[in-house]
Amino acid sequence: MSKRHIYIIACGGTIAGKAAAADDLTGYTAGAVAVEDLVAAVPQIADYAVITGEQFCNIDSSDMTESLWLELARRVQAIAVREDIDGIVITHGTDTMEETAYFLSLTVHTPVPVILTGAMRPATAISADGPLNLLEAVQTAATPGAADYGVLVVMNGTIHAARFVEKTDTTHVDTFQSRQMGCLGFIQDGQALFYQKPVTCYNDGSVFSSQGLSDLPKVVIMYAYVGMNPAAIDDAVRQGAKAIIVAGLGHGRMPADVWQQAQQAMKQGVVIVRASRTLGGIVTAVPEYDGTICANTLTPQKAKILVQLALSQSQDAHQLQQVFRYY
Ligand code: ASP
Repeated sequence: MSKRHIYIIACGGTIAGKAAAADDLTGYTAGAVAVEDLVAAVPQIADYAVITGEQFCNIDSSDMTESLWLELARRVQAIAVREDIDGIVITHGTDTMEETAYFLSLTVHTPVPVILTGAMRPATAISADGPLNLLEAVQTAATPGAADYGVLVVMNGTIHAARFVEKTDTTHVDTFQSRQMGCLGFIQDGQALFYQKPVTCYNDGSVFSSQGLSDLPKVVIMYAYVGMNPAAIDDAVRQGAKAIIVAGLGHGRMPADVWQQAQQAMKQGVVIVRASRTLGGIVTAVPEYDGTICANTLTPQKAKILVQLALSQSQDAHQLQQVFRYY
């Protein structure tokens, strides 16, 4: 088989990070190395693929924005349908990688694999993980059929679905986990091996797209805790929030005074989504929180993305809840 043509879209992050010393693993500047240098540092890539690419942005992913997401989704879509491209790798900071991956999985409709990767250690570190992650992301992007699994995150030899992947550790290289459902596969001996496939909607199964969207509605996440201030709900409404995701207690609960404020907000047309601050499980409907939308198994940060896209199509509570059932 002739070599696959993989397009790299570089967004920055620690994989492109530089520190003053090789043993400095945390005090570095993310987004300091250009895409050409990232690729040049891994000559083995040439054994698997022909590479072209571009520097989309070069930022710490804490600075990712919703307008960059929309632009990125359009860019990925435009490249994905090119006949000369067999796969796309996006290098990205790890802090918000799971959010970008989920956003792209809902908005990009692509016949070719789209793989996000990054690194936990800067390019200058002893045992930097970026070069191998980049190679394995390219190997996965070059695997025929990998597009069938939707947008993927490849980190630390493991393949994750955008829907389920989470960053779980501040600094360790095995930080990315799909804790609830497990990973989709592994990369071994240069090959991407898949063992399961998500049934949630993505790729051509998704009704969402970035085309025609100039921005996303304002949606805020509120973490529930003992002593949570109910006025925060009011503040968010006054600032124009169209939906509030409550990272709730247990099965998406909140203190009674917060719930009272939330009901006031609902009367003004604000959507309240009950997610959970626990580390897993499903949030489902209960009579006590009638009228709220349940986040299913989505983390609060992913529930926010889904409600933003869903609100761009409908404000109907029943339809919004259906969206959370399938995506
Ligand atoms: N702060 C970095 C970023 O998200 C962390 C990383 O890439 O690992 O850009």
